[in-house]
Amino acid sequence: MSLKDKIALCTGSDSWHTKEMEQYGIPSIMMCDGPHGLRCQKNVSDTMSINESLPATCFPAAVTAGATWNRELYRREGEAIGREALANEVSIVLGPGCNIKRNPLGGRSFEYISEDPYIAGHMAASFIQGIEGVGVGTSLKHFAVNSQEYKRMNGDSRLDERALREIYLAPFEIAVKLGHPATVMCSYNKINGIHASDNKKLLTDILRDEWGFDGVVITDWGALYDRIEAYRAGCDLNMPGGSKYMEKATLAAVKNGELDEALIDKTVERILRMVERGSAIKPCEVDLDAHHSLAREIATEGAVLLKNEDSVLPLEESETVLIGYMAEHIRYQGSGSSHINPTKITNVIEYMPNASHFICADEEGEISGAELEEAAKAAKTKNNAVVVIGLPDSYESEAFDREHMRLPEGYCSLVEAVADANPNTVVVLLGGSVMELPFADKVKAILYMGLPGQAGGEAIADVITGRANPSGKLTETWPISYDDVVSKETFGVRDPEYRESIYVGYRYYDKAKIQVRYPFGHGLSYTTFAYKNLSVNGREVSLEIENTGSIAGKEVVQLYIAPKTKGIFRPERELRGFEKVSLLPGETKRVSFTLDDRSFAVWADGWRTPVGEYLIEVGSSGRDIRLSQSITVDGESGDIINCQKGSWYENPVGTPTREEWEALMGRQIPLTVEPKRGSFTMDNSCMEMKDHSLMMKIQYALTERIVARGFGGKRDMKNPAYKMMLFSAINAPMRSVVINSEGAMNDSLAKFMLIMANGVIRSTIRRIITGEKHSLLPKAKEI
Ligand code: BGC
Repeated sequence: MSLKDKIALCTGSDSWHTKEMEQYGIPSIMMCDGPHGLRCQKNVSDTMSINESLPATCFPAAVTAGATWNRELYRREGEAIGREALANEVSIVLGPGCNIKRNPLGGRSFEYISEDPYIAGHMAASFIQGIEGVGVGTSLKHFAVNSQEYKRMNGDSRLDERALREIYLAPFEIAVKLGHPATVMCSYNKINGIHASDNKKLLTDILRDEWGFDGVVITDWGALYDRIEAYRAGCDLNMPGGSKYMEKATLAAVKNGELDEALIDKTVERILRMVERGSAIKPCEVDLDAHHSLAREIATEGAVLLKNEDSVLPLEESETVLIGYMAEHIRYQGSGSSHINPTKITNVIEYMPNASHFICADEEGEISGAELEEAAKAAKTKNNAVVVIGLPDSYESEAFDREHMRLPEGYCSLVEAVADANPNTVVVLLGGSVMELPFADKVKAILYMGLPGQAGGEAIADVITGRANPSGKLTETWPISYDDVVSKETFGVRDPEYRESIYVGYRYYDKAKIQVRYPFGHGLSYTTFAYKNLSVNGREVSLEIENTGSIAGKEVVQLYIAPKTKGIFRPERELRGFEKVSLLPGETKRVSFTLDDRSFAVWADGWRTPVGEYLIEVGSSGRDIRLSQSITVDGESGDIINCQKGSWYENPVGTPTREEWEALMGRQIPLTVEPKRGSFTMDNSCMEMKDHSLMMKIQYALTERIVARGFGGKRDMKNPAYKMMLFSAINAPMRSVVINSEGAMNDSLAKFMLIMANGVIRSTIRRIITGEKHSLLPKAKEI
């Protein structure tokens, strides 16, 4: 292949395809989003038409599928999505998403599995195995440290090496090693000052050299920063396609010896291997009814029974009134690139025909006083009242974070009105992440369904009537209020400082001894389980679990390691194993786990095991430990890292100061500087520049108009698809606009606009005269 063609092959041909190069016999392959179903856009080539895709099974989002803690079920979901991909001649599915839920307000929390790297990695690996098992590739995303939407395209995630390794990379490591995904998608953001696409430490040193990944690194759509650096880093395919962003510069760099052609060859080889495998797929038949049933099974198994006072659930259908807008229009999926066009949608009412219902409020939770009175009246007509509420679609989405952790006020008033009228009030909650529940003590039962997919209506009905026994467990801690969240001040800012380090989720609440609404791993059943006969033999742990109730059920047995010897700061306990066990009434089963070095290790310039006493804890949640045994583990003595004695990290109450965090980072970290006229680069967006430049103001207005055109001219901020498209477009750095515009805007035009925005006409003329290149593309520096 000519050098020019090799470089060209490293960019897609449009939003969803790799380039066909007939002259070399290279076919094109197609990829589609992911992750909880296939968003296949056959005849829509622009990423703006976000919701237009072929019908596909909309499985529960990762928040619900993850809550099943059932690897095999998630593997089957992957397999089903893989089959739908084959049927549509799609070679790669863009998923799963494996980022850590650092903060409850993360807009894409619903697409991610957990706050804990162990379960996130294991569930992701199973999902990957399912898809890859039928011959379709996956793209594990978004690598890495992409836990917020605000400024996701140019923000800098700043964190210490331990947090990076133990928390944020660990799920990817597990998923890569156990799942073997065909591709990994690098994220938009910077990590300690270096964009993911240019990050050799991440993409080569860790991903390939340490973890043995031998597939293709694909950029998130528009995430490429500097093509030349990206080749050096091991970033392969620039998506989407159409634009020739930096191709000329790359060609010149090879010609003048700045970039080694061998690096391009390696990338091309990897892409060719992916295309070869992808073009060998064979179409297959798909049983959509069976997939719908599977979606139902996953949704019922991911249902988390948060509370069930007096065993009010399950309830008698004919003795029940269903209340609320969402009983009829359940919220079943999130907005953004994972949005699926479902093959069908179910609601709760149709699956509980013998219950009565009163539909009130609207999707946003708006409700009138009269409706509240009517709802209370309706609640009195039956023994049980079930109120179905949740986070509206407009509250959470890709491209923007949640503004707060609350439900709409109207929904809370509705629950209060119904609970005042009927002592047997049950709340069914829908939404992608945790919520403040001011009414938690006033109702008898709360069932959290997450975003349960197209079969969600049936699944809710199955669980509340007892046709299914809930067995989901939380994969994210539910704090009482947002005030309790450790990252509340350092989340949702341009350059998020991960000052809490490894204390994410339960690791923080447990260590800081903070009362939570519902702990990590929590979830009730209609039956009861007894844990007994724990045995620890070297690295082999086993115990017996018995179903002591009168109906069949499933329990998630969780194994935590709790270090007891003082030294390096560590969480109280960390999840290191889980098994979902299905038991008939009276049945007992033995559950076994094998621990390894990593079960006890910390990151300190390598994985090292501190010597000392550890408790092996087994339980039904992180705060419901049923059995434990102390063991002594051989390892390194003394303080492995001796830098944080007496600091917040030893005793994490409140939030750490910047100084404490800098001591942990081992260096001073420059404060975020907001970009201003004269310093704008290709990494700045028109949103950032519009107040400084008329040209960018015009660009902003045009972008707004183009996005609105896709929605019939309506600028409706309550429409999450519109808001998501608008935010994505106006916050896209110039380089990303070039890549995403499929040729409509080229680098030269973008650079010209940038020069104008910087207001440096004289220096522009100088640059043109001297032929200075790339002066507006800053070199990424490690901070
Ligand atoms: C998202 C990815 C997605 C891609 C293609 C990006 O904006 O971050 O998750 O796979 O678009 O739709």
